[in-house]
Amino acid sequence: MQQQQKKLSDYDTSKQFEAKVISNERITPEEAEAEVRHIVLEVNDNAFEYHPGQNIGVLVPTDGEFGNKEHFRLYSIASSEGGEGDRKQFAIAVRRCFYIDDFSGERMKGVASNYLCDRSPGDTIRITGPYGGAFELPKDENINLLMIGMGTGIAPFRAFVKQIYAEKGGWKGKVRLFFGAKRGLELIYMNDVKNDFALYYDKDTFQAFEALSPRPALDEPVALDEAIEQHGKEVWEMVQDPLTNVYVAGQEGVMERLDKAMGKLAGSEEVWQRKKQDLKDKGRWFELIY
Ligand SMILES: Cc1cc2nc3c(=O)[nH]c(=O)nc-3n(C[C@H](O)[C@H](O)[C@H](O)COP(=O)(O)OP(=O)(O)OC[C@H]3O[C@@H](n4cnc5c(N)ncnc54)[C@H](O)[C@@H]3O)c2cc1C
Repeated sequence: MQQQQKKLSDYDTSKQFEAKVISNERITPEEAEAEVRHIVLEVNDNAFEYHPGQNIGVLVPTDGEFGNKEHFRLYSIASSEGGEGDRKQFAIAVRRCFYIDDFSGERMKGVASNYLCDRSPGDTIRITGPYGGAFELPKDENINLLMIGMGTGIAPFRAFVKQIYAEKGGWKGKVRLFFGAKRGLELIYMNDVKNDFALYYDKDTFQAFEALSPRPALDEPVALDEAIEQHGKEVWEMVQDPLTNVYVAGQEGVMERLDKAMGKLAGSEEVWQRKKQDLKDKGRWFELIY
């Protein structure tokens, strides 16, 4: 059965670790609107053990303005179990967030994302977790993996793909990744600054497909439906196959686009919704939407 996404207040934050910032690198080019940073953290405590697909919590000290001493937010671990060259080191991909305050109309900084993006190597932060629940790599290598990760939603799939090809040495089922962003410049781990997935393009079982917005200046959404339609036959066959797991990650909006695309493949939105429910009931559907 599909596990419900928990509320932030349901997370146990009592188990805390000190994490040292090893590096903090912008992985969207300077001219890209979205600033996403690849932040490598190190935890020198054997009690901290993570698996691909898990998240960490970050505790940001505050001045207690809204009654909380700490601001707590979650970030997906983007590393496989081998870490970033060192088992104790792992990465997160953080998008610097802003929002417009309804009352003042001012552009305000998101607390945790700006805190993380502003850390320097050598700084320490407090983290909690790791937390599982949403995503887990299946033990059976025959399972096909259909992964849809928009924006920073690609982070857990970087962990999956690294775990499969760099550490396990391969996978028997198909591994298909749809990734996207508004503009090509904002595709993380898939651009000139950092192109990690390119390492696995020659693997027999792995294929990745890109989705962008046709008119980003007009704020048109990412054409995930077109990318999926182009590979519609294979996607639909995978969805029908009892040996396929589907993983969807990213900000709100990705599900709407995906439902639209899958509705077209299914022949109607109702047929797709029934199929999606069936996948959920059979424990083959996993989502991480924020
Ligand atoms: C399981 C999970 C995994 C995640 N993984 C990642 C990841 O890998 N990478 C990543 O970048 N993010 C990830 N996120 C999102 C992340 O946890 C944060 O939500 C995000 O970074 C914004 O947090 P913040 O503290 O910077 O912003 P906040 O300060 O919390 O502000 C964020 C939002 O709160 C609202 N808000 C807050 N105060 C006001 C106000 N005064 N007026 C109006 N609106 C307000 C706005 O809608 C704003 O957009 C994940 C979330 C979840 C649940």
